Amino acid sequence: MALVFYGAIGTEIMEAQDIYQERKRTILIVEDNDLNREMVSEILGEFYEIIEAEDGLEGLEQLSLHYEEISLVLLDVYMPRCDGFEFLDRKRADNRFDSVPVIVATASDSTDDEIRCLELGANDFVVKPYNFDIMMNRISNTIRLRESASIVNQLTWDTLTTLYNQEFFYRRVNTLFSSNPDVEYDMVCSDIENFKSLNDRYGKQNCDQLLHDLAHRFLTLLPDLVVGGRIGSDTFAFLIKHQEDHEWIKIVPHISRGLLADNLSVKIGVVECVDHKLAVSLTCDRATLAIETIKGTFGLSVAWYDDKLRQQQLIEHAIIETMEKALEDHEFTIYYQPKHDLDASITGGAEALVRWIHPKLGFISPGVFIPLFERNGFITELDLYVCEEVCKEIARCKELGLPLVPISFNASRLDFDLPDLVDRIDVLAGKYGVERSLLHVEVTESAYSDNPERVINALEGLRERGFRTELDDFGSGYSSLASLNMLPLDVMKLDMSIIQQASELNDFRIVQSAIQMAQFLGLKTVAEGVETKNEVEKLSSIGCDMIQGYYYAKPLQQQEFEDYLEQREA
Ligand code: C2E
Ligand code: CA
Ligand code: CA
Repeated sequence: MALVFYGAIGTEIMEAQDIYQERKRTILIVEDNDLNREMVSEILGEFYEIIEAEDGLEGLEQLSLHYEEISLVLLDVYMPRCDGFEFLDRKRADNRFDSVPVIVATASDSTDDEIRCLELGANDFVVKPYNFDIMMNRISNTIRLRESASIVNQLTWDTLTTLYNQEFFYRRVNTLFSSNPDVEYDMVCSDIENFKSLNDRYGKQNCDQLLHDLAHRFLTLLPDLVVGGRIGSDTFAFLIKHQEDHEWIKIVPHISRGLLADNLSVKIGVVECVDHKLAVSLTCDRATLAIETIKGTFGLSVAWYDDKLRQQQLIEHAIIETMEKALEDHEFTIYYQPKHDLDASITGGAEALVRWIHPKLGFISPGVFIPLFERNGFITELDLYVCEEVCKEIARCKELGLPLVPISFNASRLDFDLPDLVDRIDVLAGKYGVERSLLHVEVTESAYSDNPERVINALEGLRERGFRTELDDFGSGYSSLASLNMLPLDVMKLDMSIIQQASELNDFRIVQSAIQMAQFLGLKTVAEGVETKNEVEKLSSIGCDMIQGYYYAKPLQQQEFEDYLEQREA
């Protein structure tokens, strides 16, 4: 591959060279004649660090010990044991030494020797007996040339994969885009799933080899490849000419076959580049976003950035831009979904569920904005807002003389990172004079597995002050009995998915065991997402305490909820 962009990086070379200016370079002198060696050492020693070797073999030993510091080798040709030719030959065979240049000292009339040395990779010659002015100049020129080349390389190429590094990839693509405005391309980005854990498991060296091999497989696989870059630790980007036919994609699922680990998963995201108006980095971001949509999905290796994703990205952007103001402006509204007490046949409680009525985007479901807020941490502010609204509502019900039922709010796992979470909740309850047992906090098992100690402490703290705790979504994922036993809980909520599955199979045995287990642990049970009479009857017959679901009521607006409570009273 040819080097490009010399002009563009001129200043960077200069800066890098400035940094190097101060350092004293090291020269390895390989010469069997003691007198010659000592004399050269003494003269060069004024400007360079010197390492001496008495013949080629010792020279090779020194080289393998110090090749990273050595800037140049000054090599005699005729020596006992291992002569200059053999030294060059063996040096060439070891690519660790590639970046160390060699100047060979020859007799004045030895053109044949010079040719042979050149063929073996020598960089320059000095003639014996030495003319020190000439020798000094040749040495410093050779070093400077090599260092400039290596700086250019470092600034341009990723040495591991021989792809462009990120910065140069972006520049190269930018230039291509502006000089070929009418050519359509596809940007193809790749990502290795769980690369970090591979690194821990197989070690850096094996993973480096993986990156190298994978990059080369892409280079051979991709049709009409224009340029490739390594744009992240395990992400590559390739610009190819736009393909109408996507036959090549069939190979992607097999691209990592035989590399490192059997279950290695490599995903790619593709973006069509038509008008070249978008910055290259953003184009790659879009490809990465497409990859995100298939992460962890078995059997899917390729994702396109399409209009749907674009739309989603725009919405996400708008949500994040406006979330703080929305909280200030009370755009988040709380709905209350009754929990029906099977025993007493009345409403025994409610869950607060947040909705966002966005002035431009309209109604946004929590399923859309909560995952985003969990990514950027805003969820904690929102949850505390919901907690305060719930306290206000309990106080209001009391004031209106409505029946008082406990209301739960959802605490995200991130809330438990707040060291004073319990105090903050307690302060809010105090502010509105709320009886603590009327405020319930719902937590998921994932919160526990993220940070068991914190969650246990917080739940204990809440219960000590009289609040009640509910385990949300039980049965929706991997449930650990250990966590159930450890967590200080009052209520277990059975996830909608296990209720619906039981209903479809008309087999409630799993639900029944869950209820029995909860009873054994002294917990009340709430079944979520109950939609039919049959489900209510089954759940009632197996000892479920409460039902939350459309069968009794959907999440209700404040006024509707208050009416609902009033009817209960009647
Ligand atoms: P969740 O905590 O499991 O809440 C129950 C969800 O099931 C609610 O969806 C509710 O409307 C829905 N649902 C209730 N009964 C039925 C039914 O019979 N059939 C069906 N198909 N669905 C039913 P929603 O309100 O869209 O909330 C979704 C999720 O968003 C909640 O799941 C909860 O994880 C999260 N969420 C909602 N509000 C908050 C909040 O204030 N803070 C936090 N951190 N998360 C919240
Ligand atoms: Ca919940
Ligand atoms: Ca739930």
